[in-house]
Amino acid sequence: MGKSFLIPESLATYVENSWLRESEVLRELREETAAMETAGMQIAADQGQFMAFLIKATGAKRCLEVGVFTGYSSTVVALALPADGTILACDVSEEFTAVARKYWEKAGVSHKIDLRLGPAVETLDSLIADGPSGAYDFAFIDADKPSYLAYYERVLFLLRKGGVVAIDNVLWDGKVADLEVLDEQTVAIRQVNEHLHRDDRVDICLVPIGDGVTLARKR
Ligand code: CA
Repeated sequence: MGKSFLIPESLATYVENSWLRESEVLRELREETAAMETAGMQIAADQGQFMAFLIKATGAKRCLEVGVFTGYSSTVVALALPADGTILACDVSEEFTAVARKYWEKAGVSHKIDLRLGPAVETLDSLIADGPSGAYDFAFIDADKPSYLAYYERVLFLLRKGGVVAIDNVLWDGKVADLEVLDEQTVAIRQVNEHLHRDDRVDICLVPIGDGVTLARKR
């Protein structure tokens, strides 16, 4: 399923056996990615299931994704979307998104996903410039941590009132709570966590799944 430091080892197998429902194509994608050096960038399977649930529970149709990697999250979300649902997906890597494209094909969801290769800040800025704002129902941010704040502000602008953004890795393997850890990524995540805590434009909650996910709903 992909290990989470938030679930004790002794419980992980029980959780996987009792809750996880993962389609064949998603399992195959997860296993192909697990063999890669950068495998840690893949979301956990139970987190994918949570995101699919969220999409269905909120009736989301238009989605944004910042950080595609090999496509687990976009595939699981696209499968949960209705037939006319779409994802505008941002990433900078040809190499990783080539894997994603292969699985979008396999899962039969390619037509739902509009991949924009290039820096996500530029892509989001062009969406903002194109207007109208407030058009998106759901967004997932899971890319380079030092740009999280820049992504969040743009995504919030693009979400409709009541739209939800999910932000990944907000507990950062527990390092956010260790104030002696001062590397750029940890500091950036702490900063975005503090920013959201104070941000009265959104309702927030923490979902302790995977590496920690913040959900923020635009007021
Ligand atoms: Ca992540």
